[in-house]
Amino acid sequence: MDALSDAVWGDVLEFLRVQNASAARGWFSRLRPGPLSGGNLTVYVSNARQQEYLNAHCVGPFVEAAQAATGRLVSVTFSLTDEPGRRCNIDGEPVSFGGDRSTIHLNPDYQFEHFVAGPSNQLAHASCVAAGENPGGAYNPLFIHGAVGLGKTHLLQAVCHQILEDAPASRITYLSCETFINHFVEAIERGALDTFRYRYRHADALVIDDMQFLSGHERTQDEFFHTFNTLYQVQKQIILSADCPPSELPSLEERLVSRFNWGLVARIDAPSLETRLAIVRKKARLRHIDLPDEVAMFVATRIKSNTRELEGAIARIGAMAALNNGPIDRALAEAALSDHVEPPPPEIRIQDIMHAVTDIFAVRLSDLQGRRRSRSIAFPRQVCMYLARQLTQHSLEEIGGFFGGRDHTTVLHANKLVARRRESDLEFRSRLESIVEGLRRG
Ligand code: ADP
Ligand code: MG
Repeated sequence: MDALSDAVWGDVLEFLRVQNASAARGWFSRLRPGPLSGGNLTVYVSNARQQEYLNAHCVGPFVEAAQAATGRLVSVTFSLTDEPGRRCNIDGEPVSFGGDRSTIHLNPDYQFEHFVAGPSNQLAHASCVAAGENPGGAYNPLFIHGAVGLGKTHLLQAVCHQILEDAPASRITYLSCETFINHFVEAIERGALDTFRYRYRHADALVIDDMQFLSGHERTQDEFFHTFNTLYQVQKQIILSADCPPSELPSLEERLVSRFNWGLVARIDAPSLETRLAIVRKKARLRHIDLPDEVAMFVATRIKSNTRELEGAIARIGAMAALNNGPIDRALAEAALSDHVEPPPPEIRIQDIMHAVTDIFAVRLSDLQGRRRSRSIAFPRQVCMYLARQLTQHSLEEIGGFFGGRDHTTVLHANKLVARRRESDLEFRSRLESIVEGLRRG
């Protein structure tokens, strides 16, 4: 039972790189071929996160590549080379095929070495690095917030990777807030609260993504409050992310908001062109795609809003070049992006918001900027403040100043109030959404 020869293994990897560019990763070169026996090829993987990734995304592509390279009908199994005692625990579950499928596992791409720090994310990045190196130390709790696609999940997972690298036996509970809520609801239904509590309150680090989903779940908030306190008291690292700062999370208990502010709150903004360019280069290197400078610049200039899109663009360019078996140049990049990149969304100005709100609420522009406080005017004004906060880059002070010289606490209050109404009033929500849609269309 010999291992696959290096030459055939080389063919497998080459086939994958060319035929499945979007799944292929630079670290595939570190995988080792094991025996091919009984129609099954074993591939050795050095850590559990890579194994998870391969099992989730790459079984089909590897089978196809192995069949092409060997000319035989084979299946593929990814196996850990480490002895079982050293396998890392994520979420308290042993990492194994057939383990707890409901838990979210770490993406091997989401490590600090693959993250680009820049002015838009400096504080978030530095504080996550510090938390990874010294969990429970300087920044606890750590709260990272920013719009979708700006790297929150990447940073949270990078901290987990770092902690596991330094202390592989660490019990890290990493999950999305929705999973936490689901686990809690299941625990209640099954009368298994003790197990739930044991599991969450004995973690070495608790990392929860997308905390905005906790809004409105009162019992889960209460449970989370106690989990938080228990871990905090024994100086275990807590890291949370959300799409807005703690004070703007709708319908969140005040005692939680204040706790989230105990440590460090760091915001991630949209990356500048320079940072996007660095991200494009890094992502291309990760996928072994050789991007000329001109093409990297083209991608970074064309795709502005969401870093996730940058990644998709690079994958498409790589796949297209492999398919054509030709060079990656500007013409190819333009062709690869032609269908997929929408023109940049129109910039939304406060004036646009005011026009949209006056249309819907039948108030006058001068009322919105005036000092009158009657409810028929105050509420539309609050909606304007909320929309300005959500859709423009203006600071709280600027928004307050614009609407009748109010201070930033008034804007925060308005934001919360409207967010709460949005949660509780379906009709209002759909009105709000149609305003936003209209504004985004320009
Ligand atoms: P979020 O959780 O904030 O919605 P993600 O962490 O899922 O965003 O990021 C979306 C994609 O963009 C991921 O592939 C991530 O690796 C990438 N990304 C975002 N910011 C950066 C960055 N600064 N450097 C490298 N990759 C980034
Ligand atoms: Mg995320």
